[in-house]
Amino acid sequence: MYDVVIIGGGPGGYAAALYAHNFGLSVALVEKDRVGGTCLLRGCIPAKAWLQTADVYSTVKRAADFGVIAEPPGLDWMAALERKNSIVERLVRGLSGLLTTRNVDVIDGFGRLAADGGVEVVDDSGVRRVEGRAVILATGSVPRSIPGYDFDGHRIVSSDEALDWTARPQRVAIIGGGVIGCEFASVLGETGSEVHLFEALDQLLPGTDPAAVKILSRHFRKLGIKATTGVAVGPPQIHDGGVVVPAGDASVEVDVVLVAVGRAPVTAGIGLEHTAVQLDRGYVQADKTTMLTHQPDLYAVGDIVAGTPQLAHAGFAEGIAAITHIATGETAPVDYRAIPLVVYTHPEVASVGLTEAQAREQGYDVEVTEHGMRGVGRAIIHGDADGVVKVVAERGGSILGATVAGPSAGEMIHELMYVVAWEALPAEAAAFIHAHPTLSEAIGETLLSAAGKPLH
Ligand code: NAD
Repeated sequence: MYDVVIIGGGPGGYAAALYAHNFGLSVALVEKDRVGGTCLLRGCIPAKAWLQTADVYSTVKRAADFGVIAEPPGLDWMAALERKNSIVERLVRGLSGLLTTRNVDVIDGFGRLAADGGVEVVDDSGVRRVEGRAVILATGSVPRSIPGYDFDGHRIVSSDEALDWTARPQRVAIIGGGVIGCEFASVLGETGSEVHLFEALDQLLPGTDPAAVKILSRHFRKLGIKATTGVAVGPPQIHDGGVVVPAGDASVEVDVVLVAVGRAPVTAGIGLEHTAVQLDRGYVQADKTTMLTHQPDLYAVGDIVAGTPQLAHAGFAEGIAAITHIATGETAPVDYRAIPLVVYTHPEVASVGLTEAQAREQGYDVEVTEHGMRGVGRAIIHGDADGVVKVVAERGGSILGATVAGPSAGEMIHELMYVVAWEALPAEAAAFIHAHPTLSEAIGETLLSAAGKPLH
């Protein structure tokens, strides 16, 4: 009997498995694929490898701006694909090694809850039983599609297949202008594909501060990416030479359609019918302080959980919360208020806490401070000065949220993560001195302005 059996070896599941070591818990981790989950195998890591290739390519194209003489750059798509694969391999091997070091028993096979409370593991050789004092469900999510757009791996694909394209598609339609849609648009637009991006709502990256979206949209326009918002695409017409995506005036014919309209939780076939687990639109309901479901000793973490962000780092934190409760009976609630979201487009868009719109919706009397990056020395040196920092505070009160768009926004946001998490007042946060010249100075300047004492 293990202390914990975890079903699913993605960020939620493997973080729980690794963290359990701190309490001396015995752990079985059931995984039907290799460990790593969406993030490592089909998501964050491979996508960022492609974005890095696109970034290098775009920098080399601008080499002359820096006084560097470089041949006009070319793209070796297969070499970039191999680099992506080798990064994934290296991290999967590293993770497997770490799990071994931490004495986690990784059990290959499909895990499901048995009618009598244990866990069954199904593989080619049959069904085995694994018993645990507690069980954590961490089965993750898969790409969703929309009616008419069934994934065929060729003309209509999800991000899973797009990460493994063996050649750069010439003409691409992307349905969904959320995080995945915009990240792929960035890679393909930077590397020279014709990109048509269709978003149903009225802006790209819905929910993101419009000041940041404006900067991303401006960059997309420069790349020739055609983004259409507030559009409903009709069913595709697939023929030998391509696919027609009907979208009124914005209708296009392309070689391939990437559908990026969100991810659905994986809960089918895992035996939930034997439990008291309650679902919310297909997602598993869990207590946000313990990650406990409605079934005693059954926890859920990661993308399957209802009402929490589908982010690897949220999964890590939920895994930690579940293990803490299993080991100690105490709670280690995830501070969802201060989980940063980074969109790794070029330029990056990162946010933490409430946007201005969310703060107003929640009834706050809001004070907003915005600072562009064009005057920031390091941003000009970087060669890509288009960016913004926006801080949202309660009038006379603490900072509620922030958004950064621009180079390295995904790194810079962490400073504001502390500010939001610790409910700092603008004047408190503004008292710290930023190194000069850095991109982060843009945050320092914004905080000084928010405190009513702008410098530059
Ligand atoms: P998403 O929810 O971010 O975006 C989906 C978009 O598709 C939305 O903007 C939605 O309005 C739009 N949409 C839905 N139906 C449509 C239709 N019929 N036509 C046009 N547009 C339509 O989902 P995603 O981009 O697929 O990503 C899935 C999850 O993975 C998200 O939760 C995301 O946060 C996460 N993710 C995070 C990162 C990151 O942190 N950098 C990267 C990739 C994915």
